[in-house]
Amino acid sequence: MDVLEALTDTITRADKAADQFGVTPSQVADSIRRVHALDQHERVAYAAGSVLGAIIDIAVTHRLDCRQEDCPTCTAIRDGLAANLASLRTLRTDAIERRQAEGASWR
Ligand SMILES: [Zn+2]
Repeated sequence: MDVLEALTDTITRADKAADQFGVTPSQVADSIRRVHALDQHERVAYAAGSVLGAIIDIAVTHRLDCRQEDCPTCTAIRDGLAANLASLRTLRTDAIERRQAEGASWR
């Protein structure tokens, strides 16, 4: 699966979930305006950071209520946290390297 296919698949799944949770078109439009003001790197960081923030909120709430030994929600939260932490750490490393390269170009 290439990047475009992966994004389209994820957007389709997110659209269905958004419908189920009552996300309004104006909420999406507000986020689009915020994202358009960002450069490419900031957009990736915004997407990864906002998803991880939501996962953390869900994880904390679910953990307080969950009593299942083998819980599929806990598994999904664990997988999502691992993937997003890896993405965020990679993005941070990339940002540090870009900053250092920009600093070097000024000398
Ligand atoms: Zn659970």
